[in-house]
Amino acid sequence: MRIGGIQRSSLVDYPGKVCAVIFTQGCNFRCPYCHNPQLVEPSLFEQPLDVADVLSFLESRVGCLNGVVVSGGEPLLHGDLLDLLARVRSLGFPVKLDTNGSLPERLQTAIDERLVDFVAMDIKAPFSKYPEIAGVQMDIGTIGASIRIIRESGINHQFRTTASAFLDADDYLNIRQLCGHTPHYIVQTMNKYSAMPDAFQYLRGEQKLQGGRYQASAVINPCHKELCN
Ligand code: SF4
Repeated sequence: MRIGGIQRSSLVDYPGKVCAVIFTQGCNFRCPYCHNPQLVEPSLFEQPLDVADVLSFLESRVGCLNGVVVSGGEPLLHGDLLDLLARVRSLGFPVKLDTNGSLPERLQTAIDERLVDFVAMDIKAPFSKYPEIAGVQMDIGTIGASIRIIRESGINHQFRTTASAFLDADDYLNIRQLCGHTPHYIVQTMNKYSAMPDAFQYLRGEQKLQGGRYQASAVINPCHKELCN
């Protein structure tokens, strides 16, 4: 298990909870807008934290925090993640898992073994654009499988897309269809100041980034309105 860092408290990473956030090192995607390149590019990795120290810190926060988020990188890449989740839950904390959805079998196991209470999955693009935006060749079927697993499990969840210049209005509509019109869908903005080291060759500047955000809001807001009516 490689833990690259811990945020000791957060009000925004676990809906309705004051939580700590554990960040695992390593990811099988290379999204150009990644906000955590130091957890993705091995050349940027820092010395991992000792797992026992992380658990000891969490133990000291029992009664102060009411949730723990495990994020990355891609946490499910780690074969011993389930053990970490079990140990965090044994302290009494509800656990939220952030995932890119590329490892559906491990996700299924984490849900089946009741090691997570909430799953947030990125849906980065319509399937036709996934390799371009994830930055790697991949089995698109894994993304659809993870969406199905989350929806059919009944677990608390959130699907989310990072708005960027890489997506247009049709893309957001297609992504909404992939989610099955769940109300648990958000669009988040990219942080252009912490993108991957070689990302800027893809970006077309602030004007187009703003355009990407505008197209997202133009599509997503009517969808939400429709769901609320
Ligand atoms: S944004 Fe992409 S590259 Fe960065 S951690 Fe998430 S899945 Fe990995």
